[in-house]
Amino acid sequence: MISIIVPCHNEAANIAPLYDRLCAVLTGEDWELVCVNDGSRDDTLARLIALSQRDPRVRVFDLARNFGKEAALTAGLDHARGDAIIPLDADLQDPPELIPTLIAKWREGFDVVNAVRASRASDGWLKRTTARGFYRVINRLSDVPIPSDTGDFRLIARPALDALNGLRERRRFMKGLFAWVGFRTADIPYQRAARHAGQTSWNYWKLWNFALEGITSFSSAPLRLASYLGVTVSIFAFIYAAIIIFRKLVYGNAVAGYPSLIVVILFLGGVQLLALGVIGEYLGRIYEESKQRPIYLIRARWERADQDDGLDRARPARDRSHPGA
Ligand code: UDP
Ligand code: MG
Repeated sequence: MISIIVPCHNEAANIAPLYDRLCAVLTGEDWELVCVNDGSRDDTLARLIALSQRDPRVRVFDLARNFGKEAALTAGLDHARGDAIIPLDADLQDPPELIPTLIAKWREGFDVVNAVRASRASDGWLKRTTARGFYRVINRLSDVPIPSDTGDFRLIARPALDALNGLRERRRFMKGLFAWVGFRTADIPYQRAARHAGQTSWNYWKLWNFALEGITSFSSAPLRLASYLGVTVSIFAFIYAAIIIFRKLVYGNAVAGYPSLIVVILFLGGVQLLALGVIGEYLGRIYEESKQRPIYLIRARWERADQDDGLDRARPARDRSHPGA
């Protein structure tokens, strides 16, 4: 069975077209659609519920609030029943028509089939440049290579999914986690479409935080920055001290100017704050991890139970985490 997992945040206008295209593409397959409503403020949830009442293959999970895309996706991954799962954006930017190709590759024996964006032409110049810079930095710093033009759109077979579901960190940089588990991987190029309807929830501030998330989750190199800065500053200080002593001995004048003094003080203050900030980034994440809160909370779910009378019903959430937690 194939599980399609769709995190939805204010996607009311996209649900019906998404469902129609999936139905058209998945004929002849055994499949389910796992929709996670991530605190939408429009009538996304109502439409999802209506859909699940018409089609028992549609399962709907409603999160207690907006937990963010990564958490919503995690909720879907935890509850998927398929032998292979495919996360899909609700906005139809990931063309469902590619799914049969992904499935074919999986049947060839691959555990993970990545859909790789053939071009970033649909993005603006600024987004392309910042994205390229980000991937260059993170791949320099991180131990596992993180592919630059792969989003969440991919196929993951059960063994790889179980491995992925075992990673319960609260700050979830999904791309990195997918890359971290590894397994036999194939790439399929595709053309990423523009958003079908509605608005993206991303902006540059969020992207910046996303980048920080990625770097701090997959590298501790910034922590070493302080040591290197310290060494560099010390070397300069040593040379400067030697110059001052030399001047004092030769010319007898040791009183340096006020400007040089203030520059040195401000520079060192800046370096120290920077180093503290870097430590703080990691400390905050350790703090959050140590609280051991669940990644998401499910408010209610709509799905037909495995072997029951076939009635749909809303059940209160009992499991707050995944089966293996
Ligand atoms: N999404 C979500 N929670 C959020 C923000 C987004 O579940 O807080 C979902 C959204 O409904 C969509 C997917 O994540 O299915 C990708 O979001 P979006 O299209 O805004 O991101 P982009 O395609 O610009 O990266
Ligand atoms: Mg999108």
